[in-house]
This record gives sequence, structure tokens and C-alpha cells, in this order.
Amino acid sequence: MVVKNKQQRDTSFEGKVVLVTGAAGGIGRATALAFGRAGACVVVADTSVDGGHATAAMIVEAGGKALFVQTNVTRAAEVEALVDKTVAYYGRLDCAFNNAGIEEEHLQLADADEALFDRIVNVNVKGTWLCMKYQIRQMLKQGGGAIVNTASVAGLVGAPTQAIYAASKHAVVGLTKTAAAEYGRDGIRVNSVCPGVINTPMLARALEREPTRQKKLRNIHPIGRFGEAAEIANAALWLCSDQASFVTGHQLAVDGGLTAI
Ligand code: NAD
Repeated sequence: MVVKNKQQRDTSFEGKVVLVTGAAGGIGRATALAFGRAGACVVVADTSVDGGHATAAMIVEAGGKALFVQTNVTRAAEVEALVDKTVAYYGRLDCAFNNAGIEEEHLQLADADEALFDRIVNVNVKGTWLCMKYQIRQMLKQGGGAIVNTASVAGLVGAPTQAIYAASKHAVVGLTKTAAAEYGRDGIRVNSVCPGVINTPMLARALEREPTRQKKLRNIHPIGRFGEAAEIANAALWLCSDQASFVTGHQLAVDGGLTAI
């Protein structure tokens, strides 16, 4: 008998353990919530305690399972402890969305300073590398897994006034491709999602600094609007799912056509 129930629960990640970094807000929160709705046991990681607890509470309120672990992804000991706590609590790690990142840059290349360079590269590059390092060690013990890193359209093309950010996101793409090549035969798939400009607190901060950029930024997308965090979540879930079982080392642009022109 076919049961016709539009409210049927999504069970596509039932029994899977999923770790999301930068999950206290924006794209990370939307993706953690989406994994929770799909039945995953979610580990929410972020430096922000209030935001992290709030995301975990939202997942639980919606009927899901979540654990918040305060983590600064730039510190090896904290990232190692994050993976250890995930395994101690849920028994394994199936999927990871390495999404924590900062931007902070609105200067031409020759005007930026060393401290800004170190800050951006530390979070976006070292943070992603550290997360992958400890996640892959765990996934190797289990015989497989799926990792998605948040790069950006700035990981695919140049980004005027954001040279350091663009360099850091190109580095995320390099980490993704190399890990995919190294661990494909171990059952670990590694991909990146490359968002266009997405409606999150990061965008709100940028527009607060330069409100006049709003129209111009919106119009660089042929679709004629900013993206929503949930649209990136959809892509991350698909890349982590068995539907993407032959996809690895790929950079999936979710950018309203920005990089098509
Ligand atoms: P956001 O600022 O709204 O959220 C980022 C989260 O990362 C925050 O909760 C923050 O606390 C956390 N974080 C920052 N540094 C951290 C650290 N060291 N350790 C752990 N957590 C840390 O930003 P967002 O727009 O949701 O961006 C998420 C990701 O998407 C970032 O990697 C960003 O570069 C990327 N991205 C965003 C856009 C956009 O337009 N919003 C476009 C392309 C790519």
C-alpha cells in the first residue's frame, strides 16, 4: 500500500553522525538544521557559545539530535578534541561540513596588512586543513565518510578588494582536490561548495560597512538576487548523501550564475 503523507519525515541521514563547523549562524546553522531534519545526529561546532547552543536547541526542538562543542578551528588540540567528543558521544563520524570562515577584508591587495592576512588564512585555510586532518583519521578507521568544505566563488575566480580571502578560498579548493585524490580508494569523498553572495550575518556586516554595495552585489548574480543559506544547505546535504556517490574532488558553485559570466 502506498502511504500518501506530505508530512512524511525525511530519513535520508537517519543513523548518520554529521559534524558542522561555523554552525552558530548563517550557512552553518541552516545546514546543521537541515541535517537534523533529515535524521542525522548533529555535532554543532563554533567559537560562539550562545549561537552554538541556540542552533543545537533548534535542532532538538524540531525533533532532532544535537550536541554543541565549543571549538576554535584554528587550534589543533580543540579540533582533535571535537572529533574525539563526537566519537565518544555518537560512536562514529560519517559526514563533515567544514564551513567556519571569516572575510573581514575590503581593501585592495597593496593596502592590506600582515595581521589581516594571518587572521583570514588561519581560520579559512589552517582551520579547514585541521578539521579534515582529524576527520579523515577517524573516517579511515571506519572505512569511509564524506566531507564538504565551504569554499566560495572567490575560490574559483578573483575577488576585487578581497585578495586574501580569495587566496584562502582557492586554498580550500586545493585541499579539497588533494584530499579527494589521496583518500578516494579509502571510501572518503571530499567536495567543496562554492556559494555566491548569501544572505547571512556575514553579508549583513559587509553591507553595514558599505550600504551602497547592496544593489551592485545583488546584480552580479544572473538570477537577480542574493542566495539563501538554505540553498547552500541543500547542496551540502546532496554532496554528503549517497546520491553523490561518484562525486569527489568537485567544486559545486551555488551562485545564481555568478561564475557563468
Ligand atoms: P557567518 O559569519 O554568518 O558565520 C560564520 C560562523 O563561523 C560564525 O558562527 C562564526 O562564529 C564561526 N567562526 C568564525 N571563526 C571561527 C573559528 N575560528 N572556529 C570556529 N568557528 C568560527 O558567515 P556565513 O556567511 O554563514 O559563512 C559561512 C561560510 O561560507 C564561510 O566559510 C564563508 O567564507 C563562506 N561564504 C559565505 C558567503 C556569503 O556571502 N555569506 C559567500 C561565499 C562563501
